Amino acid sequence: MFFYKVACISALVLSLAAAPAEAKEVFSRAELAMGTLISVQIKADKQEESDICYDAAAAEINRLEKIFSSYIEDSDVSRINATPGQWVAITPETAELLALSVEMAGLTEGAFDPTVGSLVKLWSADQVYHRIPADEEIQEALKYVGYDKIEVKEENGQHFAKIGEHQRITLGGIAKGYILDRVIEVVNKKGCPDALLSFGGDVTGTGTNAEDVPWRLGIQYPGAKNGAYFAVISLDNASIQTSGDYERFFIQDGVKYHHIISPTTGRPVKATLSSVTILHETSAPADALCTALFVMGWDGAIDYLSKRPGLKAVLMDGDKKRVAVSESLKDNLKVALEGLELFVIKAPKTIPQEPAGSK
Ligand code: AMP
Ligand code: MG
Repeated sequence: MFFYKVACISALVLSLAAAPAEAKEVFSRAELAMGTLISVQIKADKQEESDICYDAAAAEINRLEKIFSSYIEDSDVSRINATPGQWVAITPETAELLALSVEMAGLTEGAFDPTVGSLVKLWSADQVYHRIPADEEIQEALKYVGYDKIEVKEENGQHFAKIGEHQRITLGGIAKGYILDRVIEVVNKKGCPDALLSFGGDVTGTGTNAEDVPWRLGIQYPGAKNGAYFAVISLDNASIQTSGDYERFFIQDGVKYHHIISPTTGRPVKATLSSVTILHETSAPADALCTALFVMGWDGAIDYLSKRPGLKAVLMDGDKKRVAVSESLKDNLKVALEGLELFVIKAPKTIPQEPAGSK
């Protein structure tokens, strides 16, 4: 498993009306994998049809988890981490994901950086053996953060990767998105075009639901129990990813320590945001971007998004009172909770000021 603790379900599948009499049925199955609840909904004529697609999805999830998990000893990631500074033979999937990780690290100016692996391990915020590391340990681990040391090459059809001396990588911030992309492809190819896959807060939907309209999702209200959502998005052959500080954390002496680490300070990011959601055609880049925007914080994320109007994001502030939405997403987002302030992210001069008390 990627993580010891089971994460919350951050996005909720919504069904608003009864299915028409002649309609296909939506069959649902769920299980625990990758440290989270995986749920698959497939619209089909018969249960057997959906089972074929579900079994193919489960096999693909299992295969890819064994390659990317840093908690599985002989995974590609574990073997890369076991011999930093040396070339290691890897699967084409790991080569592709590493290359995308490096690209996303560049695009987010290092806010997303898979070489925070040692820091993630030091804190182990999602593990039972979590602890607050000493400052010297954090400073020592910070010396080796730097995605520019990740190298990938191909020789005679075999892929290899190498990380810098003393480095350790984690693909926890992007692998679920990548796996979603691969699994939805498998499900569609197996003959199930109408499918919704959910890995906790990371969801991909293709085709339509029981009412023959695109799948609709509720975005979890951070801090509330599972089931409470603050906004609804329609998912027309697209994915949504969510990163938040409510997913994996521990509390010590009244202070919350969560699982998203600043590559600059080596510590869990200061909570000026409580969740970031991105709607995108594919999951993997959106997964990395969500983690990166969370690292950037409320001001940094709004600044980043205002300069990239094509990105579709929803930010919930640290006080859980303000929502900022990209202009390109605002018509698709229905706020479903009273009392929230909603801002539309447009040009830099219309950026909302940081809410008082959110730092
Ligand atoms: P997500 O839930 O997608 O935001 O991913 C969080 C996971 O990504 C953590 O559990 C870590 O494994 C990893 N991670 C934490 N901080 C970072 C970071 N700054 N850049 C890349 N990955 C990170
Ligand atoms: Mg992520």
